[in-house]
Amino acid sequence: MGREASRRVRERGDLPPVGRGKKRRDTSYITQMRPQDILMPVPAGLCCKPGGFHIDPVRPVERALITHGHSDHARPGHGAVLATQETLDMMRLRYGDNFARSTQAIAYGEQIKLGDVSVKFHPAGHVLGSAQIAVSCRDTCIVASGDYKDAADPTCVPFEVVRCDVFITEATFGLPVFRHGDASDEIKKLLASVALFPERAHLVGAYSLGKAQRVIVLLRAVGYDAPIYLHGAMEKITRYYESRGVALGELRLVKGMKKSDLAGTITLAPPSATSDIWTRRFPDPVTAFASGWMRVRARARQRGVELPLVISDHADWDGLTATIDATGAGEIWVTHGQEDALVHWCTAKGLTARPLDLVGYGDEDEGDVPAAEDAEA
Ligand SMILES: [Zn+2]
Repeated sequence: MGREASRRVRERGDLPPVGRGKKRRDTSYITQMRPQDILMPVPAGLCCKPGGFHIDPVRPVERALITHGHSDHARPGHGAVLATQETLDMMRLRYGDNFARSTQAIAYGEQIKLGDVSVKFHPAGHVLGSAQIAVSCRDTCIVASGDYKDAADPTCVPFEVVRCDVFITEATFGLPVFRHGDASDEIKKLLASVALFPERAHLVGAYSLGKAQRVIVLLRAVGYDAPIYLHGAMEKITRYYESRGVALGELRLVKGMKKSDLAGTITLAPPSATSDIWTRRFPDPVTAFASGWMRVRARARQRGVELPLVISDHADWDGLTATIDATGAGEIWVTHGQEDALVHWCTAKGLTARPLDLVGYGDEDEGDVPAAEDAEA
């Protein structure tokens, strides 16, 4: 399958060839391959020298492998981009048709040879199309998991544990205090508030890619079948989810609605919109925010959130540690988030662990709202 897939890819010719056409290649470095010879953090991101690519680069590069569509991982301006079809589509929706010089879609489980390594994408359970990228070179397999969660989420393919030698994990919620709990309990809190204040509108801050659609599906799953209202900035991505078979029920745009007609309704909006002048079109709105950070009361207060909803698209502390265990990896690289506690936990278990010190991640989901999202509004 791997060979077949890579042959197909070569025939499609979407990507410029790597490591072909040379009669002789310097492979002397292969004899003593250490993990850091395969993947190395550089200012542009995670660099795979023997494969000739970067993973989720924060600067324009010749060849990028992208884990998922959030803007801190998927940036425009690269030469060739390899990602799942959904991630490519989302990049196109956000950045326009010319977001990269060339693109190539890869399916989950498909193997492609790039230079001296082979790569395989596996579901990350984070948002639609999100992937972990397994990079194998000789006997060593490194998995760069991007952002991931092991909690159930019907809007995307569930997270898959990939056995590997080195596991690169995020640490957005890498502290024992972060335990997200059951997302549907949070949704019930929201509906209880809607029932309690029928004269008010409920405004739920949620990131437009992933979180918003998950909140809608969670609402439908507990039987909420009224129309759900959307801020204009969420329309494109949400319609895209529907086009990929995620059923969301009746959705309406807020634009053009009479203020009084929004009493008793639920509206989803980018987090930035829930604190600006836009909220004046709602009758006495209850402001909610769906994020793993809502576990921290001070954060909710700081943002003026009346109804914090602890719903996260990242693994919590238990999810991170259980996943690290399950991969069987002896070496863990920890990145973007609260690295120290997780590195300490790994070391105490006898694993080799280190922080990666990559910069430029955590800007979109569960972080601050990107300028791009404001622009879309
Ligand atoms: Zn993300």
